[in-house]
Amino acid sequence: MNRFQRWIQARKAEDGGPVCAHLYDLDHLKTHTRAIVSSLPGRFRMYYAMKANSEPLILDTLVSVVHGFETASLGEVRKARTAGKTIPVIFGGPGKTDEEMEEAVRLGVERIHVESIQELRRVSWIAGRLGVHIPVLLRVNLKGPFPSATLHMAGRPTQFGIDEEEVPEAIRMARELEGVNLEGFHFHSLSNNLDVERHLRLLRLYMEKVAGWEKLFGVRSKVINVGGGIGIDFADPDASFDWERFLPGLSALERELPETVETIQFECGRYLTASCGGYAVEVLDLKQNHGKNYAVVRGGTHHFRLPASWQHSHPFEVVPVDRWDYPFPRKEWKDTAVTVVGQLCTPKDVLAREAAVSRLRIGDVLLFRYTGAYGWSISHHDFLSHPHPDQVYFRERSLQAEGGVQR
Ligand SMILES: *Cc1c(COP(=O)(O)O)cnc(C)c1O
Repeated sequence: MNRFQRWIQARKAEDGGPVCAHLYDLDHLKTHTRAIVSSLPGRFRMYYAMKANSEPLILDTLVSVVHGFETASLGEVRKARTAGKTIPVIFGGPGKTDEEMEEAVRLGVERIHVESIQELRRVSWIAGRLGVHIPVLLRVNLKGPFPSATLHMAGRPTQFGIDEEEVPEAIRMARELEGVNLEGFHFHSLSNNLDVERHLRLLRLYMEKVAGWEKLFGVRSKVINVGGGIGIDFADPDASFDWERFLPGLSALERELPETVETIQFECGRYLTASCGGYAVEVLDLKQNHGKNYAVVRGGTHHFRLPASWQHSHPFEVVPVDRWDYPFPRKEWKDTAVTVVGQLCTPKDVLAREAAVSRLRIGDVLLFRYTGAYGWSISHHDFLSHPHPDQVYFRERSLQAEGGVQR
């Protein structure tokens, strides 16, 4: 039995009320991330894209294992600074206000990722007002097409980055404007890519583009940021992106880069934090409707919106709970397929569709896996005003022997 299953059993033994909790294994998070970071070849760096999960204990755990935090709002910059006074912080994202940029500079962000030519002008203007030089990367939306993945931010029209056609103009301007230090380029073109070869081809394309601009315009890239987007296969999460196979490709790529490139940065979210999380929800009802089986759970997409947002069926396991406090028989299904839904009054409140279960009873708990990224943070918590789930953190030297730190 793993930590989460033990916690569910202990919780049901002491309290009959329905289970509904986000669970996080901080030891796993640290071990997993440290293994990834320490495997990176020489000039590669791993930043954590904190929008995937910016809960304070997640950041406290990661602050000592990643090279820095990637932020996309002033709120995130502040969270990064709370987690670590000196950790490198990079600041990107569309629609940055003057106030956000000024305060981010005061809080010591190491670089701003510029999303448009107009924003570049504002960075220069802010640098003048503050009397500083601001290091920047230009975020580029390449022409594409790109390898397939779940979400595309570039290679097609989106609000992200500077159009590849405008790059010459942006470079010229970056060099002319006072207070702006152009240090390189930023690309984040897709999300949830599962294929190692495709990802390597994508990185190679970035390097070729940068080399081309260097040659044409005489710029030097000290930093190339290759974004995040390394994925989790929710149909078979344990067989996701093959990191071990990715590494030799990265080494080869690095060997081809000129000495002038000091660092190649990743800014991964999902790949670092997804696997540390579990969402545990108790089955409140089993019902049939128009020939389909539904398990209604305590909780739903207002706590865990990812499957609704990505239109996938999220993997879970059944944790059998023997406690049954009612004086009437317990409903049970065997060897069937169930659609798991939450408590919201909308047909979109679906966590998994037609999932096979060998045995499922009212009162059992479903443990959704890989919920540590884009789970709680992207959910509309207060829709319908149900209570929030427990947030439970597990780490070795916690106060309770196995229970973890509850918040
Ligand atoms: C969301 C985002 C990331 C992280 O994406 P993942 O798919 O979670 O790795 C990195 N960079 C930028 C600019 C982003 O918007």
